[in-house]
Amino acid sequence: MAQENKNFIEEIISGDLESGKVNAITTRFPPEPNGYLHIGHAKSICLNFGMAEQFGGKCNLRFDDTNPAKEDTEYVESIMEDVKWLGFEWAELRYASDYFEQFHKWAIDLIKAGKAYVDDQNAEEIRIGRGTLTRPGTNSPYRDRSITENLDLFSRMTAGEFEEGTHVLRAKIDMASSNMNMRDPVIYRILKREHHRTGSKWCVYPMYDFAHGYEDAIEGVTHSICTLEFQDHRPLYDWFIANTDVPHIPHQYEFARLNLTYTLMSKRKLLELVTLGIVDGWDDPRMPTICGFRRRGYTAASIRRFCREIGVAKADSLVEVELLQHCLREELNKTAQRGMAVLSPLKVIIDNWEDGFVDELPAENNPEDETAGTRMLKIGKEIYIERTDYMEEPVKGFFRLAPGREVRLKHAYIIKCGDAVKDANGNVTELHCTADLASRGGDAPDGRKIKGTLHWVWAGDAVRSRINMYGNLFTLRNMGDMEEGKDYKDYLDPKSLVVAEDALVEPTLAAAHPLDKFQFLRHGYFCADKSTTREHPVFNLTVSLKDSWGKEQKK
Ligand code: ATP
Ligand code: MG
Repeated sequence: MAQENKNFIEEIISGDLESGKVNAITTRFPPEPNGYLHIGHAKSICLNFGMAEQFGGKCNLRFDDTNPAKEDTEYVESIMEDVKWLGFEWAELRYASDYFEQFHKWAIDLIKAGKAYVDDQNAEEIRIGRGTLTRPGTNSPYRDRSITENLDLFSRMTAGEFEEGTHVLRAKIDMASSNMNMRDPVIYRILKREHHRTGSKWCVYPMYDFAHGYEDAIEGVTHSICTLEFQDHRPLYDWFIANTDVPHIPHQYEFARLNLTYTLMSKRKLLELVTLGIVDGWDDPRMPTICGFRRRGYTAASIRRFCREIGVAKADSLVEVELLQHCLREELNKTAQRGMAVLSPLKVIIDNWEDGFVDELPAENNPEDETAGTRMLKIGKEIYIERTDYMEEPVKGFFRLAPGREVRLKHAYIIKCGDAVKDANGNVTELHCTADLASRGGDAPDGRKIKGTLHWVWAGDAVRSRINMYGNLFTLRNMGDMEEGKDYKDYLDPKSLVVAEDALVEPTLAAAHPLDKFQFLRHGYFCADKSTTREHPVFNLTVSLKDSWGKEQKK
């Protein structure tokens, strides 16, 4: 499963180092601070920072903050936190907005060279003038303005003399180019917005395609790695670099973006889920955001491993979310402390247990890790088991409690099921059992086989908890395949959160701190929520025990 061969980016980089095309590499991760990072960004982070680490180069964290309309310092801070949490350190922290002055100078250079002009058409006119994939564009009536007039208009745009949408600066390239991106793209527009860093200093802002290559040139980026949708933009990236006196010539390379099953990865839509209150914030454990995964109980190592497993390709694909879960499960199996939690409790009274007697039994904290030690579990006359672990009329293959049947209470005693107490509606409210008092520790003294082992908690010290059982947020496997006319909100899974309000957990679990990770026996891996307290513990389901992905691979 692990990738032995070099991916194509590694091939390019080692080739460039060997041939002496570059002496050392510089990469960058360039998020726009207009939302929280998601798992797709993690792929880009692992690739950019990973390449720098692997080849002894450096990687900058650069905020591509050229559009003040949607950007915010809240996002800047969350992005820094997430990159650090994933385990990476940036060589330098940069902001595209620090280069506004330089971008502006280069725009003027382009005007002076007759390679940019101010267009007075509105957005709609410009759109129509650009033509279509099958029809060439037509020149703007303003395309042949004199350099003097262009310089004057651009300086007045910059001074705030014109309203938004009335003028733009465009590169003068080729309105008949087969590549739509080359048909005189807009490079500056008027935006009278406060910028999160430059305030109201600017009222013209550069467009992404114009700014991005320059940012790379300023920072000495050797390998500017981005996602496939920018492939058609590369000629434009190169055009700006070639037509400007830049300090360094960067190169752009494209790789396939990550798509995950049952997952949406557009910041715009994720923001909408948050603002509409469909989820509990950017870090809702069902969100595909890095902070959502963190709150859900994912580790940075499992996300990094996932990014290694999926590799880097040149064609888009859909990755199974089960692979991500598999990476985490393998890690948690080795590291998570075991504990017992009863999600839907049914009281069991052990009739032959001496009133008031409390026994204490050792329990392994993690059978996969000898150094994890043991803890003491208390047990008395009244305990709770899972409601679903009792059946009055057991179906075939059910080895849990049923009238007359025996089961083992994990780490404790063998009990035998007696009578059930029912309420007026016939619902079982209590079970009477007897314990084999000679089976302390869980083994029958006569060696008789006990098929079922149940988890349980002692009524005397169990703590009532809320346990959030999370599933996929969406019902559609490939969110890229939505039916025509449907919205992503039509695919929300109403069962993506089911809450066990009256769960009971053993006292060790109640003492958990936020983000502590556990395996709840027979249930799965859980993580203490950020809101957990000793009095009101709250846990989130991280991932179930069932490894459908691992199983598939072994077939
Ligand atoms: P979104 O479309 O979700 O808003 P974006 O591409 O606009 O994402 P940016 O902040 O521009 O978000 O992304 C920063 C970097 O992360 C870019 O280099 C981008 O190519 C990369 N990236 C974004 N989404 C993915 C993804 N799903 N897989 C891999 N890389 C991604
Ligand atoms: Mg973007």
